Amino acid sequence: MTDERDERPLLAGVCGNPIAQSKSPRLFRHWFETYGLAGHYVPLKVAAPDFPDAIRGLQKAGFRGVNCTIPHKISALEIADEVSDSARAIGAANTLTFRRDGSFFADNTDAFGFIENLRIGAAGWDPPSAPAVMLGAGGAARAGIFALLEAGVPAVRVLNRTREKAQKLRDHFGERVEAISWNERNDALAGSGVIVNSTSLGMLGNPPLELVLADASKDAVVTDMVYNPLETPLLAAAKARGMIAVDGLGMLLHQARPGFRTWFEIDPDVTAGLRAACLEGVR
Ligand code: NAP
Repeated sequence: MTDERDERPLLAGVCGNPIAQSKSPRLFRHWFETYGLAGHYVPLKVAAPDFPDAIRGLQKAGFRGVNCTIPHKISALEIADEVSDSARAIGAANTLTFRRDGSFFADNTDAFGFIENLRIGAAGWDPPSAPAVMLGAGGAARAGIFALLEAGVPAVRVLNRTREKAQKLRDHFGERVEAISWNERNDALAGSGVIVNSTSLGMLGNPPLELVLADASKDAVVTDMVYNPLETPLLAAAKARGMIAVDGLGMLLHQARPGFRTWFEIDPDVTAGLRAACLEGVR
């Protein structure tokens, strides 16, 4: 089936506020070039109250869809006619597809990006074999917990500075999630198979995450959702201990794949060239 959209250049974008820091335009440009597509992926600074009008306008202008980042991830869910299982379970959407029939489909691809990055970065990691530890209980943690539970980890220990938020995730995701006090984070590592930082600690300009890995198994995988710097103090400490350390850039790159595939009908690869293209400005 063809429609008017087929005669236009391929259009998509990312809505957020702020948006200048987004790496997604660079990422999509690399894929357009790699696959020889005449496409444009635009950073769109949209204030929260303007989001519904902006989305309808972009749809009328022939966009195939948009990624949504802060502060639009919940509004993207609300505007959708249909919502994926992952977006519903996570309670937020980062990918909106504008269907040919005029309806909106909301998906959350952060969970996919997180688990793909982990599976590829830690080849041989066996999810069902041991509990996971999630440090942090914000939006990124929700996606990570959903992904880990789907992948089959027996349990996720969630530790957050504000304990009530960890408890809320336990209430939301059920008994395979355990809320533990932030002060107990070093002890909570014992026996875990994967340790995840989803706090903003360790990010450029923020203090490091203070975590002593001594009680963690050397076979455990350590991953950080922070990707600037690429090697956070946590990942450096894990490597120094001989553990597998997986950086957060891969999550960002893999989460973009489903949108590109749905909008432009190509499943794009995450390659060393793509990483290099997106690393500009990352320490
Ligand atoms: P968020 O919803 O604002 O959550 C921030 C988390 O960090 C909360 O758990 C917060 O704890 C914790 N935190 C902040 N300052 C802290 C401190 N001084 N001590 C202890 N905990 C602290 O943010 P988010 O969307 O989940 O994002 C979290 C991080 O993941 C960011 O660095 C973001 O860039 C990164 N991220 C990366 C990707 C990727 O593709 N790699 C995707 C999404 C997010 P409280 O609840 O106690 O405030």
